[in-house]
Amino acid sequence: MLNALSVDVEDWFQVGAFETTIDKASWDGRLHRVERNTEAVLTLFGEAGVRATFFTLGWVAARYPALIRKVAEAGHEVASHGWDHLRVFRMTPAEFSDDLKRARSAIEDATGKGVTGYRAPSFSIDLRTPWAHEVLAEAGYAYSSSVAPVVHDHYGWPEAPRFAFKPLADSDLIELPVTTVRIGGRNFAAGGGGFFRLFPYELSRWALGRVNHRERRPAVFYFHPWEIDPDQPRMAEAPLRSRLRHYTNLERMAAKLQKLLRDFQWDRTDKVVAEQAARLP
Ligand SMILES: [Zn+2]
Repeated sequence: MLNALSVDVEDWFQVGAFETTIDKASWDGRLHRVERNTEAVLTLFGEAGVRATFFTLGWVAARYPALIRKVAEAGHEVASHGWDHLRVFRMTPAEFSDDLKRARSAIEDATGKGVTGYRAPSFSIDLRTPWAHEVLAEAGYAYSSSVAPVVHDHYGWPEAPRFAFKPLADSDLIELPVTTVRIGGRNFAAGGGGFFRLFPYELSRWALGRVNHRERRPAVFYFHPWEIDPDQPRMAEAPLRSRLRHYTNLERMAAKLQKLLRDFQWDRTDKVVAEQAARLP
């Protein structure tokens, strides 16, 4: 079973958890760690012999084009994570379309290759954005991996399908939701992020294995370059809850990822999407 491995390429100061504490105008002046951290991710993947998808902010691609080119040249897919991490439900359809264009051209300029995949910042395609998939289809995207079918304090569309689906009747656009595990009629986030970093590795292994073996479906897993960086600057002024979520177990993350890369089979998201698409009506 091939599972979709992905990295959401953004720096430590661009995360949703700090959006009320860190002004976007200050981003350029902050200590940038995304280049060294993404290099470290490339090394991890290289050692494990896996390929993945790097959902990259246009903001990052515009500032570090050589890094993004290197990612593509290593055989990974480079896809879009929007321009500057503005959540889709904060935009109008026209603003979303502009955000997609701006990010895509920065990424395509860096790699020289077309972008066909998109992941919304903080899985922000949900019931508030019924137009989002249509905008993506019009822009020529083949797939989106932007829906989290869970109840969560920051995001979620609990009623959405848990596995690959076609959100539009008149388009082949595929939505590949992030992995959840279903227990007692409820969906729980199990596709990475805080779930993977904060809880014991065995819990993730169990959840992803259950999706693979019991449901016979690929897992869709994600993490961020800053999650393997215990030396990143600390935001003492952020809310306690955000700090706990952001800083816990950073020093253990790389070793945990090594286990994950070894215990499951991984590939680029576009490959997994193509396989799933062939099974859809
Ligand atoms: Zn993100």
